[in-house]
Amino acid sequence: MERMTGAGVSPGAGYGPAYLLGAAVPEPAAGSRHGGDVVAEVARVEAAVERVAAELEARGEAAGGDAQDVLVAQALIARDPVLSAEVGELINAGTAAERAVYEAFMRYNDILAEIGGYLGQRVADLEDIRDRVIAELTGRPMPGLPEEAEKPYVLVAHDLAPADTALLSKDIVAAFITEQGGPTSHTAILARAMGVPAVVACAGATSIVNGTLVLVDGTTGTVGLLPSEDEVAMTIQAAEARDTALATATGPGATADGWPVAMLANIGGPRDLAAALEYGAEGVGLYRTEFLFLDRDQAPSEEEQEQAYREILSSFPGGPVVVRVLDAGGDKPLGFLPPTENEPNPALGERGVRILRIFPDVMVGQLQALARAAQDASAQVQVMAPMVATPEEAAWFVGACRAAGLRSAGIMIEVPAAALRAGDLAPIVDFFSIGTNDLAQYAFAADREVGALTAFQDPWQPVLLDLVAMAASAGVPCGVCGEACSDPALACVLVGLGVTSLSMGAPALPWVRAALARHTLDQCRAAAVAARAESTAEAARTAARAHLLGLAELGL
Ligand code: PEP
Ligand code: MG
Repeated sequence: MERMTGAGVSPGAGYGPAYLLGAAVPEPAAGSRHGGDVVAEVARVEAAVERVAAELEARGEAAGGDAQDVLVAQALIARDPVLSAEVGELINAGTAAERAVYEAFMRYNDILAEIGGYLGQRVADLEDIRDRVIAELTGRPMPGLPEEAEKPYVLVAHDLAPADTALLSKDIVAAFITEQGGPTSHTAILARAMGVPAVVACAGATSIVNGTLVLVDGTTGTVGLLPSEDEVAMTIQAAEARDTALATATGPGATADGWPVAMLANIGGPRDLAAALEYGAEGVGLYRTEFLFLDRDQAPSEEEQEQAYREILSSFPGGPVVVRVLDAGGDKPLGFLPPTENEPNPALGERGVRILRIFPDVMVGQLQALARAAQDASAQVQVMAPMVATPEEAAWFVGACRAAGLRSAGIMIEVPAAALRAGDLAPIVDFFSIGTNDLAQYAFAADREVGALTAFQDPWQPVLLDLVAMAASAGVPCGVCGEACSDPALACVLVGLGVTSLSMGAPALPWVRAALARHTLDQCRAAAVAARAESTAEAARTAARAHLLGLAELGL
């Protein structure tokens, strides 16, 4: 079968004929003008807005639950006085009612799209309200779903508005596919609430021909066109088994025989907390604080930093939160922290702890803000430095942490020199955290930013596993916080190498937790030994999997 991929945002598998949501109401012609009666034109818009808002509320009432909240919010937007003032101004200037509505909404769309993130994903909602008001004004049918579609169908759209999805249910829709949207778009929120599989951000989705039979896997993000009966049965069965396995893998991370391995999230700031909590992170294994410092002319004030740190710490009461001090330089240059001289190879230049030694005040400010935030937090605050290569750098950083009153100070192991002599570093620090992204970059002398060299970033390379083994056996707790952790099979191997915690992008957590729960510590160790005995990444992967048979239950 032909396949398309997007982001799986609501788990499970769905199968049925594609139903393409009709095109939006056409744009009213630019420059169209009304006949001169401003009052009548404004009244027409007000009446149309009121009918649309009332209809949205009525749909909400019929749907109840999350959908009702969403639709009530939609009705509020429709009646927004700022929007109506904007429409009024345009009508005053002679613009026809439907064109005025179109232009006023477009201004808001542009603002939201520019802000991006959660607000950016509200653009589809605004477009739907706009089209409904214009449909009212022009006497066109409302956009949305027809009654007569064959059910259950797979609803395919550019993006979906809450009004489209509110009255749908599992009996009507087998799955959703949208070309736009993200994990926090309404399609995703409502699909999850309804228990309907959904794939968003699926490029080319709207080119699927109406009525084509499609198979949607909302966990892996795969969309199959014209699948065979066997493919449908296998995908649905595998999805059911996998979703049960994922749903039952909850609680603190551990191997099948109870060896605890903390499951932590990598975050860039407070905006990543919701996902970390949703996917059951026990804490934070890597808080990349540089996101607080980017796009600025100077470091954020200690007060601003303290506020951000507090927000993170309060989200994980009692749990570990590992904060990495600023990792500037290299691929993250900051104008106010320039390197000493022009660097032909920034990845090999004054980066991480090296630049902090040139500008110690910036780091001291960070440590003090963190120490203040930590005072009344119950989270176990740990702080670490990036790019440490020598015992002298490690001792300097640990000394600064102690002076700021921070109890747990560690270093990232991401330079081969540090991994090879981990035994010299361990007595100086409280913990290690291995950054496999940079460790691979520096082990292979292959810039991680260069697309042509991505093969060197494969974390299954046996030499990388050797370096991890050296760090993990040096006698201090040793986590991994590079991308390697989000591969469930490799996560088991890392545990087999002696790694004590795993930190990753939040969506990978359920998979890694479930994979680990299916294997004993001995199986993980055997997989690690087998992988290290090979000489290529591919062979290491195959050899390890022979000891990790529980992965098949997860369809991995
Ligand atoms: C790493 O290098 O693996 C790491 C986790 O740090 P970053 O990706 O931020 O460099
Ligand atoms: Mg790094």
